Amino acid sequence: MNKAIWVEAVGGPDVLQWSDHEVGRPGPGQLMIRQHAAGLNYIDVYHRTGLYPKSLPFVPGVEGAGEIIAIGDGVAGFSIGDRIAYAGPIGGYAEERLIDADKVVRLPNSIDFDQAAAMMLQGMTAQMLLRSVYPVAAGDTILVHAAAGGVGLILCQWAKALGATVIGTVGSKAKAGLAAAHGCDHPIIYTKQDFVAEVARITGGSKLSVVYDSVGRDTFLKSLDCLRPRGLMVSFGQASGPIEPLNLGLLAQKGSLFVTRPTLFTYMATHSELQASADELFDIVASGKVKVEVRQRFALRQASEAHRALENRETSGSTILTI
Ligand code: NDP
Repeated sequence: MNKAIWVEAVGGPDVLQWSDHEVGRPGPGQLMIRQHAAGLNYIDVYHRTGLYPKSLPFVPGVEGAGEIIAIGDGVAGFSIGDRIAYAGPIGGYAEERLIDADKVVRLPNSIDFDQAAAMMLQGMTAQMLLRSVYPVAAGDTILVHAAAGGVGLILCQWAKALGATVIGTVGSKAKAGLAAAHGCDHPIIYTKQDFVAEVARITGGSKLSVVYDSVGRDTFLKSLDCLRPRGLMVSFGQASGPIEPLNLGLLAQKGSLFVTRPTLFTYMATHSELQASADELFDIVASGKVKVEVRQRFALRQASEAHRALENRETSGSTILTI
């Protein structure tokens, strides 16, 4: 019998239980995959705690890589044994799973399963943020919160490759060194330094046209103070907790600011958008300008330990669950 991690009731990391998983056969338009690695992402915590509600019970995880072992009716363009990866459809913490064929991409030979599981969601998120939400250009100065995190390290390197100056916040000295080694020009330890004052100092008072904020409750309002008039606040996550409701009048007071709350799933709603984003990611990784290292590995059955580490801010860069 196949195994998977199940959530039967939302709660702390201990609700993640290793248990039997009846996969069934692929329906029309579906593939069956034997997974070799699954990605660990902060969204998995939101699903596990119920912040993003799912009907119970469910298998969490929104990212994985593996090979096709069965193909449903009406699927064209894939063969048994093809190496594929995905980011999005829930059910990733499993040895085998079913998935709609239009939600996967074929992996280039240069990218192995572990690296794919480490980068699909975080890398395509970086692509969305830097290339679509606010297209970063040479000469821009940007602020990236949680700059040594999974999305953060990719954002720093990619923004640097686009010619930007990168200011990044991190929770410790070790993470500051790591961010600096990945393209962050000005790491700020926001647990000790006031990042608003630091941004003003670094930019000589001119501040920023964009802030990328995945930390949420603890940073949202202060991030607005890092923006110049008509700047864009990109709030794309809430690792520190949900953001309080916003009085829109504040955006006027702080300089006619813009706010967006993007989610990857609307930016890659079609297969051609998904493929285009994945292709850009594969290209920049192949060029060597963005390196995605697996910095933590846990066996899939130990997913609860992986969640504890992620929530305790003990991880940096990307983490995978090995199968
Ligand atoms: P990270 O590796 O970035 O882990 C979260 C990091 O947030 C921590 O390492 C920590 O870094 C920082 N952090 C700050 N405050 C807290 C806190 N109170 N508790 C825990 N962590 C805190 O995770 P991911 O790369 O997986 O995801 C980054 C963010 O991107 C998440 O918020 C996620 O939801 C979001 N995201 C959004 C997507 C979208 O479509 N909108 C898609 C993918 C991800 P430090 O110690 O340096 O402060």
